[in-house]
Amino acid sequence: MSSAFAAGSVATRYRSTRDPSSSVSFSQALLQGLAPDGGLYVPSSWPRADVEALESETTLARLAARLITDFVAGDPIAPQLPEITAEAFNFDAPLVPLDTDGRLAVLELFHGPTAAFKDFGARFLAANFARLRTVNSPPGSRPLTILVATSGDTGGAVAAAFHGRPGIEVGVLFPKGLVSPTQERQLTCWGGNVKSFAVHGTFDDCQRLVKQAFVDPQLREQTQLSSANSINLGRLLPQAVYYASSSLEVWRKYGERASYVIPSGNLGNAAACIWARKVGLPIGEVVLAHNVNRTVTDFLHTGEWRPRPSIATLASAMDVGNPSNMERLRALFPELADLRTAVTAETVDDAAIRNRIRQGFERYGQIWCPHTATAAEVYERVVAGKRPGRWIVVSTAHPAKFSEIVEPLIGRKVSVPGTLAKLFARPTEFTEIAPDLSSLRAALSVGRP
Ligand SMILES: *Cc1c(COP(=O)(O)O)cnc(C)c1O
Repeated sequence: MSSAFAAGSVATRYRSTRDPSSSVSFSQALLQGLAPDGGLYVPSSWPRADVEALESETTLARLAARLITDFVAGDPIAPQLPEITAEAFNFDAPLVPLDTDGRLAVLELFHGPTAAFKDFGARFLAANFARLRTVNSPPGSRPLTILVATSGDTGGAVAAAFHGRPGIEVGVLFPKGLVSPTQERQLTCWGGNVKSFAVHGTFDDCQRLVKQAFVDPQLREQTQLSSANSINLGRLLPQAVYYASSSLEVWRKYGERASYVIPSGNLGNAAACIWARKVGLPIGEVVLAHNVNRTVTDFLHTGEWRPRPSIATLASAMDVGNPSNMERLRALFPELADLRTAVTAETVDDAAIRNRIRQGFERYGQIWCPHTATAAEVYERVVAGKRPGRWIVVSTAHPAKFSEIVEPLIGRKVSVPGTLAKLFARPTEFTEIAPDLSSLRAALSVGRP
């Protein structure tokens, strides 16, 4: 694959947000997830995109390979990148116009196997892990176990992406009774190499268990543990691809930059957009749309970083009180004034989310999930009629995943896409465990010689 970047093939290294002095390769950053000092991996130096070369690509998979190639330069995985992106990017991210003059469009990121944008990151990460596994591990070595704590969407996307991969096992931990019935089905319909654990506790208990597992000597002897958490570089980087494709589409048509309103929680999706702009894609403004979890909105106003417990909202996948990827944004823009120029943020409450779901249907015939509606509300509030340009509202999930919320508001049934219907038809199976490490240890050993 030829490079999309002018600078050519200098090896790209990744450093922790907390320590600029040491660095690791791309695949080391993927396997480690979090840096040893607790920081997040960011590129030590930034490649520069060759926009013309990118524009010549006609599929998302090929655009992905060209965009990502200099991010993996010098890594043992690099020669396999075209194969990896062909496997990961096998569904579309269409840009759907909402008006006739091309001022407003919706970027639909929900056409993957679990009908949410997290499929892009999870599938790219899984395609990498499957290959790193064969490159790095001798036959007969310990299995690789991916542990993921989930309050809903992440676990489903990760399970789907890793299901059926030889040599890799997945443990999905979710709080019993605290995820929606639709979500529970997606977390428990896998079997095979994916084990689902309904933890008698909260999401925080699930997360604590995963952290404890990582430092438990007994488990580490049994298996090689890794995480598919959203802070993993391998989940973030592929998300830059749909910002590249959609901004280039706008650029081709109108010769103008695209600006985005992004439904945000942990800021992984938004960070990917800002990375795409950083390497030179024609991207203008980036507006973060948050629910009432206002940590980021308040920070941009006051300059004070005050994480807090999360508040439950209709846009539940964005119920994050301490968004981890802010650390990546602050690494890129250490000065508050620069960060404020780079992004703005707005907060939307549940009443406004409901109202926007209704309005979206009445005005545009669009059926939006609560997360997408949060972004559409921010567009109406701060952009429409005030800020010129070409705007894209990012749609992060299919509304059928949130039919309990959406259907009463629009007064009709939401049809379920084929991919989701297939999942819903599978039998479900899970193991209930107490919220302690010995229960998790025992459950993970089931079926192992
Ligand atoms: C995870 C998720 C988000 C938030 O994305 P971040 O990258 O965490 O900001 C928004 N919408 C949906 C549907 C999600 O699953």
